[in-house]
Amino acid sequence: MKICGCKPEQDIYTPKNIPVMERIFAPWRIRYVLAPKPKDCVFCTAPKENRDRENLILYRGKTCYVIMNRNPYNPGHVMVNPYRHIPSIEDMTEEEMSEAMKLIKLSIEAIREAMNLTDSTLE
Ligand SMILES: [Zn+2]
Repeated sequence: MKICGCKPEQDIYTPKNIPVMERIFAPWRIRYVLAPKPKDCVFCTAPKENRDRENLILYRGKTCYVIMNRNPYNPGHVMVNPYRHIPSIEDMTEEEMSEAMKLIKLSIEAIREAMNLTDSTLE
């Protein structure tokens, strides 16, 4: 699996010879990093509004939805979120987990086709 766009000689390796990055360099995110942050949770607010295009919501399921990252580290970065505000993946119901996995698969297929990619990462 491709980890980043670095050339092999630029990679840093752990003692077990696993390449790692010391830092992520994404200078286009500086406006987001320095901007004031909304008080409310954007992942709860966005799906409640009727402005999917402006909020970058690509798909709505029954329990989860797909939203593009407005300030991505990489092109094609989307997130699959439950509508419920929960602190951790362990708090998702079986129904949310099942739909989230289906939406992740659908998203990867759509991004690969739209961007003509062969690799993808899941975080
Ligand atoms: Zn929330």
